[in-house]
Amino acid sequence: MRVLVKGAGVAGLTAAFELATRGATVTVAEIGPCLGGNASWFAGGMLAPWCERESAEQPVLDLGRHAADWWDVATPGQVTRAGTLVVAASRDAGELERFACRTSGHRWVDEGEIARLEPDLADRFWRGLFFPGEAHIDPRQAMTALHDKLVATGVDISFATDARQLSGFEHEIDCSGMAADDERLRGVRGEMMILHTPDIALSRPVRLLHPRFPLYAVPRAGHCFMIGATMIESQSGEPVTVRSMMELLGAACALHPAFGEAGIVETGVGVRPAFSDNLPRVEARGNSVAINGLYRHGFLLAPAMARQAAELVFSHEPMELA
Ligand SMILES: Cc1cc2nc3c(=O)[nH]c(=O)nc-3n(C[C@H](O)[C@H](O)[C@H](O)COP(=O)(O)OP(=O)(O)OC[C@H]3O[C@@H](n4cnc5c(N)ncnc54)[C@H](O)[C@@H]3O)c2cc1C
Repeated sequence: MRVLVKGAGVAGLTAAFELATRGATVTVAEIGPCLGGNASWFAGGMLAPWCERESAEQPVLDLGRHAADWWDVATPGQVTRAGTLVVAASRDAGELERFACRTSGHRWVDEGEIARLEPDLADRFWRGLFFPGEAHIDPRQAMTALHDKLVATGVDISFATDARQLSGFEHEIDCSGMAADDERLRGVRGEMMILHTPDIALSRPVRLLHPRFPLYAVPRAGHCFMIGATMIESQSGEPVTVRSMMELLGAACALHPAFGEAGIVETGVGVRPAFSDNLPRVEARGNSVAINGLYRHGFLLAPAMARQAAELVFSHEPMELA
């Protein structure tokens, strides 16, 4: 069975993996010149279904709870299973209580345990929530590893190729994100930055709750931290604004003042494709299956969506999102 996958974001790469694993002959066409430049490239890489349940519906937890296992199998060595730490300044203690009420899979930690988990946050936060079942990856490394694995197993990945120009496939999986021809989609702009400082070490994503400027810091290799992210109802991919940068940097310094001396390695913007209910969809139209609406859960939910899409292709049966 010859299948064309349109787009090499996280949806396209995971779909290609699931299809190739089932024995399909897969071609991935990516209109961009290389991996990157899409929403997936700017993601934090948090695999945090329990934390995300604070603002997301139950399917996000149900579909995402095995994502770390999927990434471990597909890209061995890429997943860090160290949980998530959620903290707030003492004046924002109500935010922690609210977060705890809306989530599960956590335990309360005191100052001492925060210091044991993250020594560099010692004496900074008196109380927090620890989500031990969560994990994270570096999206760029994971996508590169997945790309290389797909190529090694015979998947044809062509960059600078508009999938609309290709024909002769029995099935197509449309993973083109915001470019998809679907008027139900909206964009949610996410601004992020990568900071570098050897003065702080974190072992896991840390979320700092705040009524107006919540923030997360995800540790990356080489003393770098992905700091994110804004959530703006806009599909503008224009550069990060001064206001957003000041807000993100202010919150980063509230997490740890040493971020004030960090170097700004990169700022970036990704536009999250979302439906009105912020849940993803796998939908079939004839011989075409579309995976879209991954919103802020692309790395978390793409594995489950890819599996559903591959099953659809192989069964030819319409399937509904769980
Ligand atoms: C700042 C930020 C932080 C985030 N953090 C997280 C996180 O911590 N955890 C998490 O799970 N998710 C996170 N997300 C969400 C995640 O990044 C998105 O849900 C995901 O990237 C969407 O993936 P996608 O493959 O659908 O779209 P994209 O990554 O945008 O990929 C679509 C691809 O299709 C290509 N394309 C379009 N048209 C064509 C065509 N005609 N032919 C060929 N190719 C085409 C595009 O060039 C693009 O490469 C974050 C997002 C942002 C912006």
